[in-house]
Order: sequence, then structure tokens, then C-alpha cells
Amino acid sequence: MTDCKKCGQPAAIYLTRYGLGFCSDHFLEFLRNKVKKSIHKYKLLNPYDRIAVALSGGKDSAVLLHILDSIYSEALDLIGLHINLGIEPSNYSKISLNLARELCSDLGREFYCVDLRKEYRISMDLVEKKEKQLKRSLCGICGTFKRYLLNKYSLELDCEKIATGHVLDDEVSVLLMNMINGNVEQLVRTGPNLIAKNEIMITRIKPLYEISELETMIYAQFANLKIQDVECPYSKGASSLKYKKLYLMFENQLPGLGITFLHNFHKKILGPLQEYYQTTREKVRICAICGGPTSETVCAFCNIRKILTRNE
Ligand code: SF4
Ligand code: ZN
Ligand code: ZN
Repeated sequence: MTDCKKCGQPAAIYLTRYGLGFCSDHFLEFLRNKVKKSIHKYKLLNPYDRIAVALSGGKDSAVLLHILDSIYSEALDLIGLHINLGIEPSNYSKISLNLARELCSDLGREFYCVDLRKEYRISMDLVEKKEKQLKRSLCGICGTFKRYLLNKYSLELDCEKIATGHVLDDEVSVLLMNMINGNVEQLVRTGPNLIAKNEIMITRIKPLYEISELETMIYAQFANLKIQDVECPYSKGASSLKYKKLYLMFENQLPGLGITFLHNFHKKILGPLQEYYQTTREKVRICAICGGPTSETVCAFCNIRKILTRNE
């Protein structure tokens, strides 16, 4: 049996990719140090920043808040920001909300919830009913809701930045998807540190950018985090899941492919692509309905909401 590299006790986990074994405490320390390195490398945080952490109730965002809280206990003002998407099947939203709230209360951190139903009279259940009229995938619309609300409310809560729980697997599979489909606009907006271009947008950071989903899964287990274990009822058929599977197939054949791809994209491709694209890029405009950022006259959130609340 392998021993922990740090303390010599029997290892609770062996990481094939690094050829290292760790007991549970030293695995937690190992992962926190890895996140800390990414934070320094990409200059994600400043001391005493007020950071909104997007909390879904799932493992990645729970691990993100737990790690930031462990590394920067006093040095960061962290606030959990949850969006109640209004998904009743399997009690999905109710369970997610309770888990997110409970985690903040356990860590003694502020918690804020935006309720789509109460605030905007819309929900993902309603989106599912009107999917045909919306002509977009459920997850695509859900993504629009989340981006819009996280931006709006983290600004209202006086935060400097919003941190999201995107992990390596998410980043690589989205890159793959956008490259295969030629979505240049999306490609130039990727990376661990998306700096706000004006005062109606907030800087978005991804401290788990170089952490795999397997690692967050082990962290959540060793740190005894309570997380959502029910799959979202609307996730079936999501194209992001198909690309994630594709990426994992590559990763199994060539371990380390994901992180190499991400590093090379970030170091060698993203810069020139952004420079080129900057010249043709449209300016950010202000939505005529809500005053939020948009590239059209009305933002995607307001357009979707208009369709959903028609004939009310
Ligand atoms: Fe939203 Fe899709 Fe995630 Fe469900 S699986 S929460 S619909 S993005
Ligand atoms: Zn140990
Ligand atoms: Zn709008």
C-alpha cells in the first residue's frame, strides 16, 4: 500500500497523474496549494477583496468556497450568491438552495439568494414548458439567466469580483465545443480572469481553472461537504455533457492532455485571437429595458423574459 508523501501514514488516495499518494488531510492541503498557485499565476485576487462566490449547491462551487475560505480566512470578504432557478422536479432547486445556504452558515459567511420566480415571475420549469417558442436549449437559456443575474447581483452587493466553480473539465470541453463549431466570439471570452470592461460588468474569476472534476470530487468527500447528488432534471441531452465525455475520452488516452491544451491555448492562441478580434468587435451597449450589458438593443435575458411572460 502507498503511503502519504507528506506524513508517511497510509494514503487515502493515489493520484496516478502525479505518481503521489496522500492521506485525506494532506490531499486537502495539496489541492488548496494548487488553487493558490493558480490564483497567483493568473492574478485573480487582491487582499481584502469582497468576492461573490456563485454557489449552485453542487460540488464544484462548494469546494471553491471551502478552499477560498480555508486559504484566506480573514483576508477575503466572501459572500455566497445562489440563484434559485425554479426547478421543481426531484425537488432540485429546493435541495440546492438549502445546501448552498447551509454551507455559508457553517463557514460563517454571508449568503444571498436571487429567486427567479419571486423577482422576475419566470423559472426554468416555465422555460421547459415553452422550450419550442424559445428555440434554444434549456441549458443555454439557464446559462444566460445565470450570467445575467450573477453579474447584476454581485454588482449590487458591492463585490469587486465574482468567482465561479468552473473546473478544468468544463474549460477544456467548452473550448473544444467552441473550436469545433467555430464560435470565435465565445473563444475570445474564455480564460480564468475575465476582466470587466465597464462599470455595468463585473470581473469574473475561475480559481479552479486548473483543478479537475475528479479532484473536486475527492476534496468534497474528504472535507465532508454536503452537496447536491441529484442530477438536474433538465440536463439530459445537454451538448456540454457530450463534449465533456469527448474530452474525458481523450484524457484517458493521453493523461495531461487537458491541462496542456488549456495552457497552450491561454499562452499562445488567446492573445493573438483577442488582438485580432478586438478590431472587429462590437462595443458593449446598454439594454433598453434593464440597463444591463448587451451587444444588441435589448439583452438576451430581457428578450427571453418577454417571451416567457407573454399573455400572462
Ligand atoms: Fe441549468 Fe442545464 Fe445546469 Fe440544469 S443542467 S442547472 S438546466 S445549466
Ligand atoms: Zn499525510
Ligand atoms: Zn435587459
